[in-house]
Amino acid sequence: MIKKAVRVRFAPAPTGHLHVGGARTALFNYLFARHHKGVFILRVEDTDPARSSEEYYSSIIDALTWLELEWDEGPEAGGKYGPYRQSERRAIYDEYLHKLKQSGGAYECFCTPEELEERRERMRATGEAPRYNGRCADLPPAERERLAQQGLKPCLRFRLDPKADLTFDDLIRGRVEIDAADLDDFVIARPDGSPTYNFVCAVDDANMAISHVIRGEDHISNTPRQIAVSRALGFEPATFAHVPLLLGPDKSRLSKRHGAKAVLEYKEEGYLPEAFVNFLALLGWSYDDERELFTLKELKKVFSLERVAKKGAVFDVDKLRWMNGVYLRKFSAEELFERARPWLEPAGIVGMEDDERVALARAALALEHDKVKTLGEAPYLVEFFFTEEIEYDDRATKNLLKLPGGVDMLRDVAELCAALPDFTAEALEKSVRALAEERGVSAGKVIHAMRAALSGRTTGPSLFEMAALMGQERVVKRLMKATSVYKR
Ligand code: GLU
Repeated sequence: MIKKAVRVRFAPAPTGHLHVGGARTALFNYLFARHHKGVFILRVEDTDPARSSEEYYSSIIDALTWLELEWDEGPEAGGKYGPYRQSERRAIYDEYLHKLKQSGGAYECFCTPEELEERRERMRATGEAPRYNGRCADLPPAERERLAQQGLKPCLRFRLDPKADLTFDDLIRGRVEIDAADLDDFVIARPDGSPTYNFVCAVDDANMAISHVIRGEDHISNTPRQIAVSRALGFEPATFAHVPLLLGPDKSRLSKRHGAKAVLEYKEEGYLPEAFVNFLALLGWSYDDERELFTLKELKKVFSLERVAKKGAVFDVDKLRWMNGVYLRKFSAEELFERARPWLEPAGIVGMEDDERVALARAALALEHDKVKTLGEAPYLVEFFFTEEIEYDDRATKNLLKLPGGVDMLRDVAELCAALPDFTAEALEKSVRALAEERGVSAGKVIHAMRAALSGRTTGPSLFEMAALMGQERVVKRLMKATSVYKR
């Protein structure tokens, strides 16, 4: 169905970090390109020097690299349609601006910002949609000369034919009807000569032979203008596909308050790129109504724009956590530990050379393998194995205090542990349960108190396995130490 050679681009502005919405757009472009054996291009839209920065540029590159969305052409990759940073393409834009001016497709406008605002104000007052009234569209050359002599710097406006057919067929939204008469002659170059977004975007899409423009729905109002510019320059506009907006679970536009953040923050929190990509793919796209787990390789095979929905896609951070957990569970204990190392090392849990600590951390993490959701949680999950001074949280303290028999019972449990010849989870469980029964105490209460004494917490891995891993000596010490709670 896709007839032309596929060339798509992701075109971020380095005016901020890459966020979830941008990453999803990048992914859809990437998958579309790979599915159709096409070319994926990265184009950096850094024409606004006041808002663009090298820091954001690098951060966007890092985020795309982390997600493994490798671009075929673009900064660092090169390509024959470069340069791929718009700040380096000014000469190209100037040439097209000049062309358009020569052909009468654009004209100089001398209206001052004050005049424009005043007119807009009047239009608003009469209930009209504010738009440019075309005052400078047909200025006689002598008048232009006179205004220029006064020192007025003109901007350049695109001459938009109100009868032009700018309706387009969007691959996701279907036919988008446009009445060109609703649009006005928009600015394509500012008084300082710098070209505006709609112009450079249309020029680059044409100049880089982009076949499909896949981008967020928030750009849909720009599309007819870009089609008009493209045609005026003698190009066939690309095919458009506008992907639905991302929404929070409350269906309002996605924002920080829904847990949305920069992609690299998810990396820092210990999400896996493979899980993150899988999650992003399902934001607006589905394979069928059931299957949810896909590797990047599988996505390349099955992705299609036909299965992108029109309605907004809900971003649910809990689903991301769940999915990350699913991917973490695919790892062996060894892999899980190695992937968690970058979090465990700075937390001081393991060092490079300490085999004993490494073995303990690996085994401790393995006990939580079923529950862990992000690698960033790893230090917290295992740290109580390594701290000598356990601090009891409030609920843990309560569980200690609720132990029938209090100090004496805890001491008995400690003695029992010390006396066990074979300190395994099974042996320990058997004797603890037997002791509880003998004393007529619920085994649950003993287990809760033991967990509190050993970890300071009320949740964690299975108690007896955790104790076995800690080792007899530590366990006995911690149980004895916990008796101090009763004396407070
Ligand atoms: N620089 C624009 C943005 O970041 C690109 C829009 C487009 O893809 O055309 O929203």
